[in-house]
Amino acid sequence: MDLRANTRAPCVALLSEVLDMQYLVPAFREACPDIDLRMGADLGPLEDIDAAVCWFPPHGQLAQLPKLTLVQSLAAGIDHIVADPALPRERPLCRIVDTGMAAGMKAYVTWAVVQQHRGMKAYVASSAAGQWQEQDVVSPRRYRVGIAGLGTLGMACAETLATIGYEVSGWSRSAKHDLPAGVTGFHGDAQLDAFLARCDTLVCLLPLTPQTQGFLDAALFARLPRGAHLVNVGRGDHLVEADLLHALDAGQLSAATLDAFSQEPLPPGHPFWGDDRILVTPHIATRTDRLVIAQQTLANLASLQQGQRPANQVDLERGY
Ligand code: NAP
Repeated sequence: MDLRANTRAPCVALLSEVLDMQYLVPAFREACPDIDLRMGADLGPLEDIDAAVCWFPPHGQLAQLPKLTLVQSLAAGIDHIVADPALPRERPLCRIVDTGMAAGMKAYVTWAVVQQHRGMKAYVASSAAGQWQEQDVVSPRRYRVGIAGLGTLGMACAETLATIGYEVSGWSRSAKHDLPAGVTGFHGDAQLDAFLARCDTLVCLLPLTPQTQGFLDAALFARLPRGAHLVNVGRGDHLVEADLLHALDAGQLSAATLDAFSQEPLPPGHPFWGDDRILVTPHIATRTDRLVIAQQTLANLASLQQGQRPANQVDLERGY
């Protein structure tokens, strides 16, 4: 990218009320050595700021930036930004789309499916106890995985699981005409029941929107095959936590692998901790490479400053 065309170095604010954004500084300096970075309580003269990179930005802060050209999520989701009631919705909002992030998610979701399908938890126990104890070895072809959300990440996971032999279905809002080989597509509310009926493992890779909040609830669990396994790598608010515990107690679900929670970190004493039916991971399914965040932010800012459309701009009407 040629930044010499600009009269001054870009000024980027790093905004979060839950994360120390200092971790992004070396990557932004590598991508643009003379960048003007702002963060923390004192952002300096606000009219300098061209772009804001966000993860749960303090509510109201974006609205105070008079010359803001770009709002950039440092992640795939944007729910943490649109939650700000004062969000200046007329400013372009972009998200990260990256093959490295997709690779991390493919690895996590494949692990989550395989550890359940092959009973790996039992081997951790038998190995620790010095016992040679076989679990059933069921062919992946006889194990059905459903991915709710066939976007960038869901599609990548569906393709990987189909490639290693699982029977894979996916569900999205709109019909898909570019499904990977071996993946069966379902879409819309009318096809949700048929999709859910084919999920020995259900993976949630939906964005969090008003339509998908609480998607993983008792009514949905009742439509899964008895004893199904849930993987939630979307957002914590997709899940109605009490309904999950009831479904596990009733045997309607047998296990859950959860990476996202309504409250993060998951607080001490939460019923999910120590429940041997639930595997908790601390929102690590995948991460965006810091340099990718810096490069995509600067490229999007340059595009907008040149009157061009930035990459991966979010449709705020659609909500993702
Ligand atoms: P994306 O490309 O925007 O894809 C979203 C998918 O969900 C699309 O297939 C979309 O359908 C579908 N969808 C949206 N609303 C729907 C509805 N109401 N009913 C049915 N389907 C609906 O998103 P992505 O990049 O794959 O990311 C998905 C989510 O993963 C993110 O929003 C984030 O919450 C989560 N995530 C988690 C982690 C982690 O570490 N745990 C990391 C990255 C991302 P259409 O295709 O028809 O539009």
